[in-house]
Amino acid sequence: MTLAPRPWIFDVPAYVPGRPARDEEGSLASNESPLGASPDVGTSIARAIPRIHRYPDPLASELRSALADYHGVNPEQILVGNGSDELIVLVATAYLAQGGHVVTADPAYRIDEISTRLVAGRVTGVPLADGVHDLNAMAEVEADIAYVVNPHNPTGTAHQRQEIERFLRTARAAFTIVDEAYIDFCDDPENASAVGLLDLGSFAVLRTFSKVYGLASLRIGYLIAPTEVISILRRVRTPFSVNSLAQAGALAALRDREHFARVREHTIKARLEVIDELRVIGLRPYPSQANFVLVPVPDESGAAAHLGNYGVQVRPGTALGIPGHLRISVPPPQGMDRLRAAIRTLSVGELG
Ligand SMILES: *Cc1c(COP(=O)(O)O)cnc(C)c1O
Repeated sequence: MTLAPRPWIFDVPAYVPGRPARDEEGSLASNESPLGASPDVGTSIARAIPRIHRYPDPLASELRSALADYHGVNPEQILVGNGSDELIVLVATAYLAQGGHVVTADPAYRIDEISTRLVAGRVTGVPLADGVHDLNAMAEVEADIAYVVNPHNPTGTAHQRQEIERFLRTARAAFTIVDEAYIDFCDDPENASAVGLLDLGSFAVLRTFSKVYGLASLRIGYLIAPTEVISILRRVRTPFSVNSLAQAGALAALRDREHFARVREHTIKARLEVIDELRVIGLRPYPSQANFVLVPVPDESGAAAHLGNYGVQVRPGTALGIPGHLRISVPPPQGMDRLRAAIRTLSVGELG
């Protein structure tokens, strides 16, 4: 007998990660924090090192209770995962295996699509309307789970909370996951988090420490969901997926509100500068509420190669399901000049 993978595995699109740049200043491909993590994170991790021979707290109790306070929810409504990507995979395993149906925007956040297809589920992608989720059309789709990414990746566009509320009240999907990986970068108060709507039921909010908190490498995120859903996902997960250093780091990051505010402020200011620079050369970037800017370009690979020559690594839209675009993460303060020079020298040729 020969071992063979399940046939649908061959049809699952591979995740294409962003390429690292040669230095910090030009690493604009993966939406990581332009200011890094709070210095308290390192201190806190160092303090946790003497106990790394012990298994971590499987439920991350201390972090969970701090998160519950922060969001004004019950700790039993929170599950911490090895990045929010793990939580997306757990949802797929528990609720979508063998023919489950998901509705997403098209283009979708890659992991929402990949996780569903990995368990032989089906994805209906509803094309964006004017760069945002077509929530009315998505609400019409009878699915097990609807994924709403707010602000969306790869576009950076956001919905107002009242639009999300209307979707949650009318959606024909049995359950909705609102992925708020970038919600803290919104500067319009109308784009508030859906956490305040949890009493509506039948939906969950997904958050991560990878973006505003700058802990992408530690792999830690969390889901706020009805307790029945949390207890199902606890059955599915491996018990020690979130290591003790990540738990210690996340707790320190959550407590440093000053660093959080600095990252947020820098991001909001810098993304406007990036948008302005792109407009100066005649491009029309999407209006971003996230820590990146998506811009249509006539020659995606030519433009990416040009920026690459300046040491600026961005993400080509093709890898994100939106060919003909570049996604540019907000640079750190010392990377702005280089990005500006790279953009200003983009010639008409590279633009097509
Ligand atoms: C970056 C990102 C995440 C975070 O993933 P982690 O696994 O927590 O690093 C989740 N959702 C979206 C839409 C993202 O862009």
